[in-house]
Amino acid sequence: MSATTKLARQKSRRKTAWQLLMNNRLAAAGFYIIAALVVLVLAAPILPIDNPDTIDLVGRLQPALSDGHLLGTDHLGRDILARLIWGSRVSLAVGLSASIIAAFFGSLIGLVAGYAGGRIDNIMMRGIDMLMAFPYILLALAIVAVLGPGLMNALYAIAVVNIPFFARNIRGITVGLAHREFVDAARLSGKSHTSIVLTEILPNVLPIIVITMSTTVGWMILETAGLSFLGLGAQPPQADLGSMLGEGRSLLFTAPSVSIIPGVMVFIIVMSINLLGDGVRDALDPRLRAGALNRPLPVTRIDRSDRSETSASGKGAALSVENLQTGFESTQGIVPAVKGISFAVQKGECLGLIGESGSGKSVTALSLLGLVASPPGVITGGSVAIDGRDIFSMHETEIASYRGSKVAYVFQDPLTTLHPLFTIGEQVAEAVRTHQPVSRNEAHAKAVALLDTVRIPDPAKRAAAYPHELSGGQRQRVGIAMALANDPDIIIADEPTTALDVTVQAEILRLLQALRQERGLALLFITHDFGVVAEICDRVAVMRHGEIVETGNTADILGNPQHPYTQRLIACVPRLGQGKAFLEALRQLPKVEGV
Ligand code: ADP
Ligand code: MG
Repeated sequence: MSATTKLARQKSRRKTAWQLLMNNRLAAAGFYIIAALVVLVLAAPILPIDNPDTIDLVGRLQPALSDGHLLGTDHLGRDILARLIWGSRVSLAVGLSASIIAAFFGSLIGLVAGYAGGRIDNIMMRGIDMLMAFPYILLALAIVAVLGPGLMNALYAIAVVNIPFFARNIRGITVGLAHREFVDAARLSGKSHTSIVLTEILPNVLPIIVITMSTTVGWMILETAGLSFLGLGAQPPQADLGSMLGEGRSLLFTAPSVSIIPGVMVFIIVMSINLLGDGVRDALDPRLRAGALNRPLPVTRIDRSDRSETSASGKGAALSVENLQTGFESTQGIVPAVKGISFAVQKGECLGLIGESGSGKSVTALSLLGLVASPPGVITGGSVAIDGRDIFSMHETEIASYRGSKVAYVFQDPLTTLHPLFTIGEQVAEAVRTHQPVSRNEAHAKAVALLDTVRIPDPAKRAAAYPHELSGGQRQRVGIAMALANDPDIIIADEPTTALDVTVQAEILRLLQALRQERGLALLFITHDFGVVAEICDRVAVMRHGEIVETGNTADILGNPQHPYTQRLIACVPRLGQGKAFLEALRQLPKVEGV
């Protein structure tokens, strides 16, 4: 297959926004109803219906299905069907125009205020705030009172009261965008402000404008109908849904169909526009599309086609992984990130998992206890055994009880994993209390002892410190203390020293090493640095593109790497005083595809 046809096929498999919209049954129903209505009202002039304004006092208040009047006649003998079609035409047109006007001016104000910032922003937004300070239906009434009743004036009033809604939304988005690097770059390249707003910022806020519009059109149709109902919109004899409702109000008991029919029409229009609008929003929002805003499942979705049994070498190991496969759902199906890897870690052993960034190390680590966020994560095959028990066939609650107690994680960036509003003492104590039924005081005492174990100076006092008051190395020690809180058998450390400088890294490594020897922990140490592996790991597995390409004792792999990728990784550890020779050596290594 040639590259282009491959690409074309991939494109055709990727769902477009349109397909997503049509997959949503409610939105599709809304779309078809609205489309049918629009065709109907557009065709009003050529439909075989009466003139909606022809009065026939003799034939007034005829019931539905009577001769020549499918839906009957109103109190002046006008054909309700004709008035309904022409009235819907007016209501749809007014609602839609009002939202286009509101979207245009509101977005313009939002863009200018958000981009300009400072005083301009302040003045514009205070003006908008003043508009928002009035109950908007009162505001609309006041505007119509000043301009005089009439359909056009009702349209302006509805548009004006909805401007603040757009202005606020769009300003918020624009403020976020105005300081992004690509806008700075455009400014430095000498683009004018107008052109930056139009070509850099507008394309980014356009989907938001469309989304906001789609969710407000229905509302605006309702507001227009409301003004007409009060006699401030469409003037007699012109029909729109609101004025029809208003006229039918006094006949509610004698001839209910006169008001019920336009009422049902308003309901159908607003309902289907809202359904369609919600569908449009979901189809256009990339986060919703990827399922990122869904609540993740408590355990990664497990959908194993093969459940490889623990191999002989894995028996008796603290942690044994057999043919583990993890992927991510995407619009093109499941994209594999970990493609069938196997390894085992014995009690008291340290296994290094090494590979460049993106090779699947973190996904591997998280898969072990089903911690990969689902959606989009899914475990497609293999097994993980801890103390000989298959994790993926356990119940969710049992897997959760393993987390933090039997198996503990230490993550790369301690500032993002610690809660900024609680003291470190409280957080370590919480980790203790999650798995142990101890009192608050006992937990606190244990937390202080743990902080001491990880060599935090003056732990009793430091326990009252907040994460931002600690150095990076100290925060990482707190992370390790939390991992040790429940005497785990296995610690999985995912690049715990990557964010630290070399001297602090050395301290942390020494600490982990000491703890491992003291407590007989099994340690899975993930890194991209062979220097670190050499320091603390007994064995090492080299990972690349989701596969393990080489595994063995650290000394053997370091001394005699077999796979060209491993050779390159090792060569990438610079040594003091090597300088130019180091780069030269790198260049002479065999090329590995994709490295
Ligand atoms: P690393 O080895 O640097 O820790 P990861 O394990 O984080 O790499 O990532 C492995 C692969 O999985 C990468 O190609 C990444 O793009 C992909 N991946 C990770 N998380 C997600 C996610 N939430 N959705 C889709 N793909 C992901
Ligand atoms: Mg990672």
